[in-house]
Amino acid sequence: MFDKILIANRGEIALRILRACRAMGIKTVTVYSEADAEAKYVKLSDESVCIGPAPSNLSYLNIPAIISAAEVTDAQAIHPGYGFLSENADFAERVEKSGFTFIGPRPETIRLMGDKVSAKETMRKTGVPCVPGSDGAIPEDSDEIKKIAKKIGYPVIIKASGGGGGRGMRVVHTEAALLNSVVMTKNEAQVAFGNPVVYMEKFLEKPRHVEFQVLADSYKKAIHLGTRDCSLQRRHQKIIEEAPAPGINERQMNKVGARCASACEKINYRGAGTFEFLYENDEFYFIEMNTRLQVEHTVTELITDIDLVQEQIKIAFGEKLSFRQKDIRYQGHAIECRLNAEDPYNFIPSPGTISRFHLPGGPGVRIDTHAYGGYKVPSNYDSMVGKLITYGESRDQALARMDIALSEIVIEGIKTNVPLHRDLMNDRSFMDGGVNIHYLENKLKNKS
Ligand code: ADP
Repeated sequence: MFDKILIANRGEIALRILRACRAMGIKTVTVYSEADAEAKYVKLSDESVCIGPAPSNLSYLNIPAIISAAEVTDAQAIHPGYGFLSENADFAERVEKSGFTFIGPRPETIRLMGDKVSAKETMRKTGVPCVPGSDGAIPEDSDEIKKIAKKIGYPVIIKASGGGGGRGMRVVHTEAALLNSVVMTKNEAQVAFGNPVVYMEKFLEKPRHVEFQVLADSYKKAIHLGTRDCSLQRRHQKIIEEAPAPGINERQMNKVGARCASACEKINYRGAGTFEFLYENDEFYFIEMNTRLQVEHTVTELITDIDLVQEQIKIAFGEKLSFRQKDIRYQGHAIECRLNAEDPYNFIPSPGTISRFHLPGGPGVRIDTHAYGGYKVPSNYDSMVGKLITYGESRDQALARMDIALSEIVIEGIKTNVPLHRDLMNDRSFMDGGVNIHYLENKLKNKS
């Protein structure tokens, strides 16, 4: 096994990876920016290296600084976590060229899946169900564009091939608005992503967001670990996630999951990954693949009893998957609430020092956080300060435990979204399960 791993990330996920390494007897190196110099998790690692000032482009996105930190500490592998450089193919390439192991897929796979047109084309070819749309990029010819939209049927959505983070998309309801929307999305895509290529899809009106976790080793063996529902979102940012996705029967889950696993084998995928789908009228439609660990991996861990970070590390070291599809057992239900330092209703970030901090506990409660009383939430990064996850034998029990856990939490000195989560745990539609991706925004609109 690796002797020492460098964790190229910060906050709760750095701590999460650190814990996995410790459990495996692997030494750790954390890297930190000046803004995180005092963070306690940094002191839990065997070694730590300052990689630059607070702004992420000078520290957590600073590839040469991270590589040289690995060199001076003699680390053998680099775990990128999520966000920052985790889906940057150039980074993965630089890591491997410098003689380290990148804990993630091959650079060419990251590149293939990072381009949405090529990702979708690959998925279609490997038999993963996709949203009906243009086969590849939209052509130049106006009549051709109109023909494609007509065939798909309005409303359609124009999406940037290089897009991400919910940006670079435009919904079109009529032919009159079509060509103008294509031009505008192309221009925006060029400015935002340096890539003007756009494609077209049927716009689904009330889908849910349902995704599949996969694991693949370096020997073309892949399995899926079932579904997660992440439909509670605001501006395409997930707020609550759960596993399994409610109301999807096991037969359909296994059928689509098997397609995802088989796609991994066909594209020679390596590591952990997620296939994201929109789910409407009992059908799955692939939208994108995330070639990394996700924030919400925890809910899958709780229902499968598999440590995904440890699996990532074993795969990166070259081990074969130690279980087959038929060994995967799903037990119970898990829900995750992202705890953000922000106003619960207008979502304005609320960095600052946490004055009082008390965490809940009890059966079925898991907390992943790097925060503590006296911790200063920096203003430079994402506002997530932790994740509260509950497990229950049933969905109802997981919800009830979440409701109680939320009532026990004390985080003072900054604003958090705990009040919103408490609201949602008592929201009839959410409690029933299966709300669509617009549910939260509509609810918030009605409130204001
Ligand atoms: P990004 O990489 O920017 O997150 P995605 O392709 O994953 O882009 O889409 C982000 C979100 O946009 C989806 O979760 C969904 O809310 C919406 N969306 C994307 N494609 C469609 C579609 N065909 N119909 C309806 N909504 C869509």
